[in-house]
Amino acid sequence: MQQTYIMLKPDAVKRGLMGKIISRIEDKGFKIVDAKMFTLTQAQLEEHYAHLKDKPFFPEIVSYMTSGPVLGMIVEGADVIAGMRKLMGATKWLEADAGTIRGDFACNTTQNLIHGSDAEETAKAEIKRFFGK
Ligand code: UDP
Ligand code: MG
Repeated sequence: MQQTYIMLKPDAVKRGLMGKIISRIEDKGFKIVDAKMFTLTQAQLEEHYAHLKDKPFFPEIVSYMTSGPVLGMIVEGADVIAGMRKLMGATKWLEADAGTIRGDFACNTTQNLIHGSDAEETAKAEIKRFFGK
């Protein structure tokens, strides 16, 4: 069965939206097989968002993502990588359709509540990075 790395970002935790977001994941039929709360280190974040390091908004991402704990999860299911990306909605909040997590709960592109791996290779690397397995 396919697995993906999902992370509820600090704004999801601070806004008390963990339960609602987890319900959407479970209601869809995906299974949470591991979970932990932790605060990202700058080093973990720089590795995780290496593809964004040269972007002008990178410092903003760093301060946001290290501002409080996140909930990291391994989520399992058929086609869960693409399925979770659909459930999450587009990165930019104005492009995220209503009915998606970002479309319904976010009105900021940086503080967009949730991370989900975007491909099989990144899912494997992110599960290893954050869960060591
Ligand atoms: N991000 C941002 N501004 C942008 C693009 C991305 O602040 O123009 C932030 C946002 O929090 C996003 C994260 O950087 O979720 C990672 O960007 P990516 O392109 O990987 O989007 P995602 O895979 O999260 O949809
Ligand atoms: Mg991404």
